[in-house]
Amino acid sequence: MTPGELAERYGTPLYVYDLDEAAAARDDLTASLPASASLYYALKANPHPGVARALREGTGRPCRAEISSEGELAAALAAGYAGGDCLYTGPGKTDAELAAALAAGVRTFSAESPGDLRRIGRAATVHGVTADCLLRVNGAPAGAPSGIAMAGRPSQFGFDAEALPEALAELSAVPGARLAGAHFFPLSNAADEDTLISEFEHTIATAARLRARHGLPLRLLDLGGGFAAPYGVAGPRPSYGGLRGALEKALDRDLPGWRRGEPEIAFESGRHLVARCGTLLVSVTDVKRSRGRVFAVLDAGVNAFGGMAGLGRLLPPDITPGRAGGAPPGGAVAEPVTLAGPLCTPGDVLARNADLVPPAAGDVLAVPNAGAYGVTASPLAFLGRPAPREVTLRDGAVVSVSRLEPHREWSTP
Ligand SMILES: *Cc1c(COP(=O)(O)O)cnc(C)c1O
Repeated sequence: MTPGELAERYGTPLYVYDLDEAAAARDDLTASLPASASLYYALKANPHPGVARALREGTGRPCRAEISSEGELAAALAAGYAGGDCLYTGPGKTDAELAAALAAGVRTFSAESPGDLRRIGRAATVHGVTADCLLRVNGAPAGAPSGIAMAGRPSQFGFDAEALPEALAELSAVPGARLAGAHFFPLSNAADEDTLISEFEHTIATAARLRARHGLPLRLLDLGGGFAAPYGVAGPRPSYGGLRGALEKALDRDLPGWRRGEPEIAFESGRHLVARCGTLLVSVTDVKRSRGRVFAVLDAGVNAFGGMAGLGRLLPPDITPGRAGGAPPGGAVAEPVTLAGPLCTPGDVLARNADLVPPAAGDVLAVPNAGAYGVTASPLAFLGRPAPREVTLRDGAVVSVSRLEPHREWSTP
């Protein structure tokens, strides 16, 4: 079905996910990594079970799941991942969450602090098992001089690399928790392949040093990610033609046992795997001029494509949509258009200066590369509009239609 037909059939705002593209992204990324490496899909980017399932199925190497909540655990299970395929990460894991994860068969956790490790160990003990724990390491950025004490920024994430050696003996003795390796995630959305490579080289060297000098156990080394994607603007998935060779070289140098699986190497990705599979279709409700500027008011704003708008504008949306209904009228010229959403706040703007032929009320616009940090990264309940519908496509045909619905649970006192 064409975007116009989908909008007509299911209404807007509408997220359309092409599952074949998600699988292709997975296959391309795994081909850019060492052949024996595992790839975790960070469900945070898009926990839609159909999308998460597409990254597990198909002919390519299946992803595992990186999850950080009971909601993401449920989404991963709904997508067919087993508990044993999951890596549970994130600060502030509660006893109840840990119990639920363990009951679902999750056995691998990333520990962010001594307290976090003790809570994981305690929950595992209650459950009668031992949890495999990666220590999340907060190292120094790649640009820092090497050979001196590493000094990353203060963070709620991970153990400071420079303090880890001293803590290792105590961390190794936590009942219920077996130290299985290290987890790094120093970088997101890397600007280019060289940045990515130098960050990974630095991480590999840090992990090797922690193992060789300080005895950090290293069965599994999760090197994190940083694989990039455009957000709401046209553009290809970045390709990483030189990455695999560079990684193999760095691993051969610093951790030569990796080819025998000692350590097993893993990576993580969210946006790069799913951004391009998603298109957000929106309708223009109103077009007006104000003091010389064109405003197109859409039926979806930051409540549907919020770019984590509630999170200090980590990912401010600045979309450039295309037209879902073909070419604009002949002779029309592009000019800067402000694309506003329907919310009663001046902050509800998806683009301030999109270079567009001003659309007309009723036009359907297509926001490209909208598959990551969409619905669930948006303040959905703000101003109470329904969440966008989400459809998944395979071979161009619709295979599922769903909509998240925030609802209030009442109880009587
Ligand atoms: C957010 C996050 C990811 C995914 O980040 P992307 O930039 O979407 O690839 C992976 N790992 C961890 C630990 C994260 O917090």
